[in-house]
Amino acid sequence: MAKVIPCRQCLGCGEKKEKTELIRIVRGTDGYYSLDETGRMNGRGAYICKNPACFDAAVKRKGFERSFKESIPADVISRLKGEFEDLGQK
Ligand SMILES: [Zn+2]
Repeated sequence: MAKVIPCRQCLGCGEKKEKTELIRIVRGTDGYYSLDETGRMNGRGAYICKNPACFDAAVKRKGFERSFKESIPADVISRLKGEFEDLGQK
């Protein structure tokens, strides 16, 4: 029997993919943004393909602003981007 894997939409390219192919970015209840490798962190989340190009596209399209309903400071974006790229190299 096929296992049903929930799909989420990438903020960058807009494609729907299985959660395992995406990285979750979460805003914790304290307002701190982080990458959620386990997919179990509390807070509001958004998904992006494991592809730095999609991260950049999400920034350009203001996908983060739309998902989290607030603007994200540039230094937070660059920190997340760094963490994102580290993840991609694992
Ligand atoms: Zn994507």
